[in-house]
Amino acid sequence: MKVPFVDLKAQYESIKTEIDTAISNVITETAFIGGKYVKAFESAFAEQYGVSHVISCANGTDSLYILMKMLGIGEGDEVITVANSWISSSETITQTGAKPVFVDIHPDFYSMDETKLDTAITPATKAVIAVHLQGQMCAIDTIKSICDKHGIYLIEDCAQSHLSELNGVRAGLTGIAGSFSFYPGKNLGAYGDAGCITTNDEKLAEKCRMYANHGALKKHHHIIEGINSRLDGLQAAILGAKLPFLQQWTAQRREKAALYNKYLSDIKKIVIPTERTGSMHSYHLYVIRCEQRDELMQYLKERGIETAIHYPTALPNLPCYTYLGYHSSDFPIASSYQSSILSLPLYPELTEAMISYVAENIRNFYTGNQTAASNEETVVASAS
Ligand SMILES: *Cc1c(COP(=O)(O)O)cnc(C)c1O
Repeated sequence: MKVPFVDLKAQYESIKTEIDTAISNVITETAFIGGKYVKAFESAFAEQYGVSHVISCANGTDSLYILMKMLGIGEGDEVITVANSWISSSETITQTGAKPVFVDIHPDFYSMDETKLDTAITPATKAVIAVHLQGQMCAIDTIKSICDKHGIYLIEDCAQSHLSELNGVRAGLTGIAGSFSFYPGKNLGAYGDAGCITTNDEKLAEKCRMYANHGALKKHHHIIEGINSRLDGLQAAILGAKLPFLQQWTAQRREKAALYNKYLSDIKKIVIPTERTGSMHSYHLYVIRCEQRDELMQYLKERGIETAIHYPTALPNLPCYTYLGYHSSDFPIASSYQSSILSLPLYPELTEAMISYVAENIRNFYTGNQTAASNEETVVASAS
């Protein structure tokens, strides 16, 4: 059996008519940049989300950068983010001229350990980027009160947490703004790069809209110098066609995660994900911790199961941050988990048969019960 890590084709097949119509409409109307499909998606996402402003842009990385620039963050400032995330969460801090500061992850929930935030704050700290990693929100209320106490901005990186909730509040609605990615593999994905900013702050919304469009709200009226970071019409129309399915897809992701829990819970060598009390996890990723991670990954690969690592190196341990002078022991949890975390395939179209096949192979790996595939043992050995 083949179990790919993601299967965007299967999703396309299930909504082919909607997507094909959306694409052909944009081409027929030559609504390539700006125009009605971009506006329509922005309002539909705002309504679905319960937020007053959605500012679309070229990708999720830009949305973080635009937000920080428009909050006045730059040279001499520090911005705190989490030690385990995609590099966008920290590289955009550097892009503004500010210095990235990292906080270790929570041992159970993989996102920022809120108990370690306070000590990372200095007089130069201007903002915190809280990343709702894997689809589960961090302890956003605690993080917000720490930010408020110090008078610093809270930005929520929601690239992996479309529709996730904590105590009934959606990701992106607690801080000054939320940043979303619609990268194809995200829970709501375009057919190319796309992203957006969500905020209830009207002034910030206007600034971001201006900055993303060469500093102009009206053509040729450049109030400031900006950048070119726009959502194109095709991506907007595709996202608009997919948005009505997002709730159903999220529910399906949760069902698949529950099935994994059922099939995996008795395997002693692995740790399955934990949901925070009051959390509505949207399972962008289903991440386990396991012994002999690399060997297990290879074993599964040989049996048609694709897995991934999010992320193989904690951010502060990457070569690009050597200059910050951190030691991996400054982030004990993130540094130790980088060699034991493994993301299993999880998407709405995954079947129970696939889930049980993945689980059975994980079990076999640890019990040495390699019936059908024992001839591949040499490959496993040479890879380890
Ligand atoms: C995907 C992602 C981003 C960046 O989004 P792009 O659209 O790829 O630029 C930022 N932060 C996190 C946590 C992500 O997973």
